[in-house]
Parts: sequence; C-alpha cells; structure tokens
Amino acid sequence: MADENSKDKIALLGMSAKDISALLTDYPKFCGAQIFGFLADGKDFDEMTSLKKELRAHLCDNYIGNPVQILKTYEGKGGTKKYLFKMRDGNLIEGVFMPHVYGNTLCLSTQIGCRMGCTFCASGLDGLVRNLTVGEMLGQVVAVNRDNGGCAKNRKVDKLVLMGSGEPFDNYDNVLGFLKAVNDEKGLNIGERNISLSTSGLCDKIIKFADSGHKITLSISLHAPFDELRSALMPVNKAYGIDSIVASAKYYFAKTGRRVIFEYTLISGQNDSDGCAKRLAAITSGFPSHVNLIRLNEVKENDYRAPSVDAADAFLKKLQRLGVSATIRKSLGNDVEGACGQLRRRYMSGEEI
Ligand code: SAH
Ligand code: SF4
Repeated sequence: MADENSKDKIALLGMSAKDISALLTDYPKFCGAQIFGFLADGKDFDEMTSLKKELRAHLCDNYIGNPVQILKTYEGKGGTKKYLFKMRDGNLIEGVFMPHVYGNTLCLSTQIGCRMGCTFCASGLDGLVRNLTVGEMLGQVVAVNRDNGGCAKNRKVDKLVLMGSGEPFDNYDNVLGFLKAVNDEKGLNIGERNISLSTSGLCDKIIKFADSGHKITLSISLHAPFDELRSALMPVNKAYGIDSIVASAKYYFAKTGRRVIFEYTLISGQNDSDGCAKRLAAITSGFPSHVNLIRLNEVKENDYRAPSVDAADAFLKKLQRLGVSATIRKSLGNDVEGACGQLRRRYMSGEEI
C-alpha cells in the first residue's frame, strides 16, 4: 500500500533483477532476483517473508513495489471486470478484464489521457496528462493478475491488448520497454503472440516498430475510408493520411508476416454508408488484412450515435459480399462504462456509476 511519502520513492516493479541488485549494494546479489520474482507475483514488501526482516524494512523505507493501486472494480456481464487504477501522483486510469475459455484478456492503458483528439473518444477530451512508465503498464497487469487469484507462475491473465486510454506509439520507448518486461521469462512471461496493440496510425512509428523485430498483432484505427471524413473524426489524419496508413500496414505485414487489423468504429450517419463500405473494401483489398467493426460506444460529451445492431450487421454483410475479411467486435466492457476513458471521467466528476 502506498504511504504518504511514496510519491518520491522509486518503484522497483518494471526494473530487471539486475537493476534491482545494483540498487541493493549492501545485500547479496541473489536478492535482486528474489525481489523481482515476488514483485511479478504482485506481493508487497511486507509479504516477502523469505527475505531478511532488515532488508524488508530497508525496501519499505526507500522503495515502493507496484506503483499501481486498484482503486475500484466494477463487475459486468460474463465475468467482465472494469478496473479503476490509481497512480502514485493521484492520476486515474482504467482497464478491462475479460475472461474467456481461450484465455483471459486484459485491456490496459498506455497514457493518462491522450493528445490525438479523436472527436468520438472520451480519453482525449482533456488532452494528454502524461505518459505511463514501464512500471505503471506492468503494474496494471500484475495487479489484475493477482486480483483474479494469479501469480507469475500461474497466470490468470493470458492475453494483453494495449487499447485502454492513450496512444501507445506516442509513448513509444516505454511501450517497448513494457513489451520486454512483460515477456521476461522469470516474470509474467506473456509472449508477443498474446499481445496486441492499437494505434491511431502514427505511420513513422509503425515503420519503426516493424523494423524493431517485435511481432505482436497490430491494429490500426481507421474509422473512415475517405481522408476528409477521417480528418474530421481523427485530427491525426492530417499528418498521416489513408495512403500512408495503407502503405505502413503493408510494410508491417511484409516485415512480420502478421496481417494488420483495421478497426472501424461505426458511427450512425457518419461512416456507415454504402459508399464507405465500397471504399473500405477497395482500401483493404490486395493484401492480407482484417476489418474489425465496433458499434460506437456513445459518449455523453458528444452527439455521435451508434447505428442499430441490424444496421451494423448490414454494413458487415456488405463488406463480406465485397470480399473483405471482417467481423463485428462486441464493445469491450460496454456495460461497465465503455473502454475508453468514460469510467475515469465519471468517477472524477463525482457521478454515480
Ligand atoms: N489510441 C489507440 C488505442 C486506444 S483506443 C487507438 O486509437 O487506436 C482503442 C480503440 O477504441 C480505438 O480503435 C478507438 O478508436 C476506439 N474508440 C475510442 N472511443 C470509442 C468509442 N466511443 N466507441 C467505440 N470505439 C471507440
Ligand atoms: Fe487517443 Fe485512441 Fe482516443 Fe484517439 S481513439 S483520442 S488515439 S485514445
């Protein structure tokens, strides 16, 4: 549990065993690896009872373990749980845990807020507050794993999607550090096959990421097949238009052998016309890709509306008739206040949730 002065203390979660050892020069080297393992289990220092009492006291006085604290959980349908996390500086972020027979998935955040300003999204309404650290991303996974009865060797979180608040590629270095840390075989050991990341389409970073050797599933938020419409929904399109998005998706496939997923949030009267379906089919044909349709999660701060379930289904059928590989995704954690910054806003404004 974070104490009053913990804001100034260094968080050990997110560091390698070697880095932890290097901090503890007065103690045997193997302590670093032990502490690293306990932290991956989600233990507080006072639970690390196999460490000498004096070392535990030293850790409590000078460091903190997990910089992320679960503030509240909200249970939804089918075992879905929405988490509100508190950072040590008091900032809040959210995550969604979705149990599944094929493995439990956690949707986690990469930034507090977001500066991309997509007009339909609640995360970007107040702009970017700050980037999350490696420890704060890892801390969400460790906390949720433990909250569901897991530890490092017996995980209850199997898959990760970097789709909570924030633009992961706007926090590029920390996100790469997180992918390495969460993949550590002495830690949570979640492999890249089980991780996906969603970006609003920062093409230079997509290319850099493709060249980095990482091979996770990449989703690109497309949401509109015409530049003018996409720029109105997603200001980032003025910097990276649809042509460069398609070129970087092809590059990602060429480099990694992984087809890119295009996310397409259906907004009634905006991007669900026949013309949009035809253009979307033209854009995504000719290379391996998949379109993931999502019905808009309505946000009270704007007037956009979701199409009906039938209208969304009709759009899907049109795409499929045009030869597009496409599916409709059920909204993440819809019944527990959306997946994208809405829970945090409501909580902060003191509204009943
Ligand atoms: N910033 C990244 C990842 C986080 S958002 C991105 O934009 O891709 C995760 C997904 O949720 C994105 O596809 C985003 O466009 C979508 N999204 C945001 N607000 C939404 C809303 N109100 N309803 C449905 N999807 C939304
Ligand atoms: Fe940021 Fe993604 Fe929301 Fe756009 S949709 S404002 S990129 S979190």
